[in-house]
Amino acid sequence: MTGPPAEACARCGTFAELEAFGAERFCAACAARPDVAVVEKYRQAHLGKLDALTWVVGLFAPGYLVAALGLLSARDFIDAALALCAAAAHGLFFAGLPWARPLPLVTTVLLLGATLVMRVWAGALFAVPLGLAAAAYGHPVTQLYFRVDVPDRRLRPVVERMQLNAFAHSAWVFSLVALVLPLLWPLAFVLTLRALATGGGRKLAVRALAVCALGPVVFCALFTGAYESLGWASV
Ligand SMILES: [Zn+2]
Repeated sequence: MTGPPAEACARCGTFAELEAFGAERFCAACAARPDVAVVEKYRQAHLGKLDALTWVVGLFAPGYLVAALGLLSARDFIDAALALCAAAAHGLFFAGLPWARPLPLVTTVLLLGATLVMRVWAGALFAVPLGLAAAAYGHPVTQLYFRVDVPDRRLRPVVERMQLNAFAHSAWVFSLVALVLPLLWPLAFVLTLRALATGGGRKLAVRALAVCALGPVVFCALFTGAYESLGWASV
């Protein structure tokens, strides 16, 4: 990352050994400043790193696996195969394989379609994992995990949002994670209340509050669905 010496720093113009951040080069003193090359530093820090949305989508893999085992024991082989495919798709996504990036989206669309075709209206709940899979497919930070070449213009708003409203951003991330890990729900709720009270990032805090409100509903519905599909209701 070190450029040839005797080149001018893009910020202060000093001739020194320079560090490259994207297309620009800076001297060591300027490179260390928090306001220099913010987007590029963020990109380098997050390239290939697991982000919250990938965790959320990945956590569906064990869920689908448990559902598949339940369906297998109930001798519902077609649904079990579908659930196994979904578990594999979400697991491969979590592993960060570039070709697996669209798989959760594809399998969740299939599951949603299959349940609606069979007139199982509770299948409409697949809209939640579908929304999460779509968000993870399109989110610039998740794309960095998959080492997609994300342009600066798409990454800059994310970086600015995180810097300006760190509290609201944490609340938003935790409210999404709590959809899959209900144990984290109280933490997400407290963070959301703090974010609302501090006033920064109000839009994001309100969205977090909406997801927090949705959390218990999704959890109860999924729990009831798993309970019934595993046949425990008849025990
Ligand atoms: Zn400089």
